[in-house]
Amino acid sequence: MKVHLDCPVCGSELEVGVTPGEPAVMYYRDGSGYPGSGPEVELFHECLCFSNDFVDTDKLYEHVAERAIERAQGDGWDSYDGPDTLEEARGER
Ligand SMILES: [Zn+2]
Repeated sequence: MKVHLDCPVCGSELEVGVTPGEPAVMYYRDGSGYPGSGPEVELFHECLCFSNDFVDTDKLYEHVAERAIERAQGDGWDSYDGPDTLEEARGER
């Protein structure tokens, strides 16, 4: 799904595509199976901040990605059962 967010730095509208992750599935008793995947975020429309040397683009991207995932969940990922944050998806929680 697509969500629209304002850039926290310049206020421009960003268009972000969010794909829910897939929950882990256990096939066997030893715990093997599909480990699942985290949500995917794709920036369709980025602002000038992403090509600005004074902006930490990694941090900005992460911020935008997290807000986009929150927004997508708020819009109804009812059946979604995967990681809720990028940190969780990466196992950093
Ligand atoms: Zn911006």
